[in-house]
Amino acid sequence: MPTATKTSTKSLWIGGKRCSAKSGRTFETVNPATGEVIAKVAEGGPEDIDAAVKAAAKAAAGPWSKMSARARGAVLFAAARIIRDRVNDLGLVESRDSGKPLAAAKGEILYVADVLEYYGGAASKHFGETIPVGNPGIELTLREPVGICGLIVPWNFPAVIASWKLGPALACGNTVVLKPAAETPLSALILGEIFAEAGLPEGVLNVVPGPGVGCGDALAAHPLVRKVSFTGSTKTGSSIMTAAARDIKRVSLELGGKSANVVFDDVADLDLCVEKSLWSVFDNAGQDCCARSRFLLQEKIYERFLDKLVARAKRIVVGDPLDKATQMGPLISAKQREKVSGYVAAGEADGCERLCGGGAPKARGLSNGFYLEPCVLAGATARMSVFREEIFGPVVCATPFKNEDEAVALANDSAYGLSGSVWTRDLGRGMRMAKALQTGALSINSSSSVYLEAPFGGYKSSGLGRELGMKAMDLYTEVKSVFISAA
Ligand code: NAD
Repeated sequence: MPTATKTSTKSLWIGGKRCSAKSGRTFETVNPATGEVIAKVAEGGPEDIDAAVKAAAKAAAGPWSKMSARARGAVLFAAARIIRDRVNDLGLVESRDSGKPLAAAKGEILYVADVLEYYGGAASKHFGETIPVGNPGIELTLREPVGICGLIVPWNFPAVIASWKLGPALACGNTVVLKPAAETPLSALILGEIFAEAGLPEGVLNVVPGPGVGCGDALAAHPLVRKVSFTGSTKTGSSIMTAAARDIKRVSLELGGKSANVVFDDVADLDLCVEKSLWSVFDNAGQDCCARSRFLLQEKIYERFLDKLVARAKRIVVGDPLDKATQMGPLISAKQREKVSGYVAAGEADGCERLCGGGAPKARGLSNGFYLEPCVLAGATARMSVFREEIFGPVVCATPFKNEDEAVALANDSAYGLSGSVWTRDLGRGMRMAKALQTGALSINSSSSVYLEAPFGGYKSSGLGRELGMKAMDLYTEVKSVFISAA
């Protein structure tokens, strides 16, 4: 059995200092590729959340919210520079903590720097308006920080999703408490120290890892927290909304997805479409809220597409994240692999044909990790759980359709509405589909629908509010209307 005897212990980051949990408790974070304990981490509880929120409250009364927007932006740029300089060690930490291939982890760390630079620049470009009104005078709006923000993030893109929230929250002059997922606490703790090195005043950013219930819920319910920004499952998002309701906290939620990849038989380049579609569901081992995990394929190309997809899926290199050849690492935990395997079994029991994958890879050296081979299930119908529920693993289900109307009906037959793709050579059809699909982000003839500069968020049970781009700045500011009489 793996042991924690030779591992270091990571502290909480509160008020610009490392500290132990008040309970003295720690938890272990595990490398999903090996099952080994990487570090022991101080386990934040309600009393630590209270200390972190009070540190954030003290910092909110300090210079941060009052300094010029450009000066705040300079701190974000400085943090981005340090992150770029440390890409190798941060990438390794992220890869070992989450199981993602090292090259992908390093790419994500560099993207975190991009995000902080974007919001470093945005700090001085988010301003109010002057508005013509009925009385003589000037009506204008001011943008003010919301106050103390609780930022709760998941394990699938730990540093990236933290940066989506930290960037705009800090640029707008707020102070924050960041709660990373218990599965992946390490990069967030390092970010706390990097921001201090970049000149962020103490207490502006506090980092408290811990469980969802007993730490995250305490943050969402804390009476001094004015805004909660959450990314994670729809079920948790709903309970956070309930907790936030008592004090009418501002809430933004990025939740689950079950996005459709709709391929019409007039697709321009079937091979390219297969390649892009493959990674739109299997990237990050399918642990992606935007994963196109339902492939809707027009009847004429259904068999041909699946033949090519399966041939390609079988060639995906599943293995050690530190091996350069690896394209897909393990799932985050044994529990997650069990859950995903359960969906594969349920799909087969419901009548799907398993065309490939769904089992643990046989290669030597992988038996202690939480690996699963990419799986394609054919013949899914809209009543099956594999079609309706978010699997959050490397499993795609395929469903044939006859015409555009049926494609729209199938794509929209979901509680979710986060992302999706449409493949067609007909621009008019592409535009009709773009208008008809109930989803927050969509790509036509592409599998990318998340851009740093563009708003991102979900319809229906996929969320509330839009992150990224300048829209995210609205999430972290209050608007004050001021009228100056000229009478
Ligand atoms: P999760 O909801 O269990 O946990 C997310 C975070 O919330 C973690 O930090 C967790 O500790 C915390 N948490 C759990 N229960 C809580 C509670 N009652 N109160 C406050 N905090 C609580 O989700 P997960 O298992 O970490 O991530 C997988 C899910 O997240 C998937 O459903 C996925 O689609 C979703 N997700 C969505 C997006 C998006 O942008 N829409 C991005 C990533 C993940």
